Amino acid sequence: MTHQLIEMENRWGAHNYHPLDVVVERAEGAWVQATGGKRYLDCLSAYSALNQGHRHPRIFAALVEQAGRVTLTSRAFRNDQLPLFCEELAQLCGMEAVLPMNTGAEAVETAIKAARRWGYLRKAIPADRAEIVVCRNNFHGRTTTITGFSSEPAYRDGFGPFTPGFVEVPFGDADALEAAISECACAFLFEPIQCEAGILIPPDGYLRRIREICTRHRVLMLADEIQTGLGRTGKLFACDHEDVRPDVFILGKALSGGFYPVSAVVSSREVLGVFGPGSHGSTYGGNPLACAVARAAIRVVVDEQLAARSAELGAWLLEELRGIRSPVIADVRGKGLLTGLELKTLARPYCERLLELGVLCKETHTHTIRLAPPLVVSRDDLAWLVGRLRDVFEG
Ligand SMILES: *Cc1c(COP(=O)(O)O)cnc(C)c1O
Repeated sequence: MTHQLIEMENRWGAHNYHPLDVVVERAEGAWVQATGGKRYLDCLSAYSALNQGHRHPRIFAALVEQAGRVTLTSRAFRNDQLPLFCEELAQLCGMEAVLPMNTGAEAVETAIKAARRWGYLRKAIPADRAEIVVCRNNFHGRTTTITGFSSEPAYRDGFGPFTPGFVEVPFGDADALEAAISECACAFLFEPIQCEAGILIPPDGYLRRIREICTRHRVLMLADEIQTGLGRTGKLFACDHEDVRPDVFILGKALSGGFYPVSAVVSSREVLGVFGPGSHGSTYGGNPLACAVARAAIRVVVDEQLAARSAELGAWLLEELRGIRSPVIADVRGKGLLTGLELKTLARPYCERLLELGVLCKETHTHTIRLAPPLVVSRDDLAWLVGRLRDVFEG
């Protein structure tokens, strides 16, 4: 059965992923069950889309309830969930307006369009000259525009020609950002922690300094919190660690708690006001099913205090990880329940070994194992995880 499904996927699917050979058929909370019945602790959480855990009952109920009423209207007509979603998300972020999309990459694209138009309208940047500063080793999604400003050959090779208008600076270097800002710069797009690059945490004070630089040069600060937001790093947003407010939040993943693709750009009227009717849109963006699911997903993050939980459990896990004695571990780092175990060797064989022991995790950037379980994970489950890591690294 398992083998057949794997063969079938290899035979009929495109091979744009290299998944571990576990075929999941059920899941609940922090645990998944594979064909054959074996259970695994999910330490990837679908790249933090599952902060609320698999099939959270409150989000599940909202999905079913809404699916029984109306699922899609298109934005040609109004629906009774979109206004509530916009209000609740804007208030959660302390912002004025929300533009809903579906996938993370679409939200990033939306933020890029908003920033460029803002640059032309509000900063009088000459037509078609707007520049956006981005960071080396960034990951913002997979569209052609976004991969075009990636520094990762695997993401780019063979997909050109690419969109111009992006300038790259090293991540974590505020002076480099300042030096890269030209007359035509409209925005700085960044991740507060670079996740796909290997859980790279910038130096303390970086977020405050880039805030100050963006303000001084009138450049929009676009925080891609698709993976770091909604509690993952121990605060509601990773920018909160330095009490910094970006001009734009880009959200996705856990915004719908694993049920449905929902993303959004959250900002001021000044920024999102650049869009008039006809200038941007999405057939499924802001649909009532998505909005009902996202509203429930947000309520779970708030009501269950998932950010505080992540801070507490993450600090405990980090201490435990630092206590593992192994010559192959090069570094242990993290914030909240977003932790990275950097190895001196390839991480993939260790992920495969952990899989055998019942731990689902995935290497990121070849040498780092990301450990990012759902934020509803129990302390006992984490203690069990540490035991399995000891088996692999100390055994
Ligand atoms: C996952 C991710 C994206 C892209 O989201 P998709 O839903 O896969 O398009 C963008 N930025 C960051 C930081 C991400 O982690």
